[in-house]
Amino acid sequence: MSYFYFILGSVLASWIYVCTVRYEKKSDMYGKWSICPHCHHRIPFHQMIPIISWIQLKGHCAWCHHEIPVSSFFCELFGALGFLIISLSFDGIHKIGMMIVFCALLYASFCDLLYGLIPDRTHLIIASSAILMISPAQRIHQILYSLALLIVLFFICIWTQSIGMGDGKLISSLALILHPLSILYMISIASTTALIITILKKEGKKGQIIRFGPYLSFGAFVCLCFLERVP
Ligand SMILES: [Zn+2]
Repeated sequence: MSYFYFILGSVLASWIYVCTVRYEKKSDMYGKWSICPHCHHRIPFHQMIPIISWIQLKGHCAWCHHEIPVSSFFCELFGALGFLIISLSFDGIHKIGMMIVFCALLYASFCDLLYGLIPDRTHLIIASSAILMISPAQRIHQILYSLALLIVLFFICIWTQSIGMGDGKLISSLALILHPLSILYMISIASTTALIITILKKEGKKGQIIRFGPYLSFGAFVCLCFLERVP
C-alpha cells in the first residue's frame, strides 16, 4: 500500500509543479496538455512519468534538448516521500487532511521560490482542511488562537518588516492544527534550516530577502508528522 501513496504523491506533486509554473498565466493554469516552453512540442504521455522521466531524459527536453528545471524533479520526489511518510503516520480523516495540507505546503513553497509570494488560496486550503482535522471541542479555541496570532504577526510584519505577510498568514493557518509550542518548534526548525542552507550556498548578503515559505513548510511538516499536534 505504501507504493500506492508514493506514486500518488509523485503524480500530484507533478501537477502542483505545473500549476506553479502556470501561476502567472491564470487563464491556462489547469487542464491544458503539457508542452515544452521552449520548442512548444507536445510532451507525450510516456515522457510525463513523475521522477522517472526526468532521470531518463537526463533533465533535458527530448526535442530541443533545453534544460528541464531540476526543481520539477525535486518537487515530484518531495511529493512522493511526503505522501509515503503521511501514509505511515496518520489514519482516517487525519491522513486525508494531512495530504491536502501537504499539497498546499508544496504549492506555497514552489510559488515562493519562483515568484517570491505565497498565494492566498494556500492559506484557505490549509485552514479548511485543518478545521476538518481538529476535534469539535478544539475548534473555537484553535480558531481564536490562530486569529490572535495573525493579528500579532500582522503588526510584526508592519513594524519590523522582518517577515512577509504571506509567511505570517501561513503560520496563522498552520496554528489551527499545531499546538503553540509546536509553532515555536516550527519557526526554530525553519530558521535553523534557512541559516544552514544560506551558509552552505554562501548567500545571505546584507539586506537580501530570504524566501522563507519553503523553510516554514519543512518545519510544519516535521512538527505535524513527528511532534505534537492538536487532536
Ligand atoms: Zn523542447
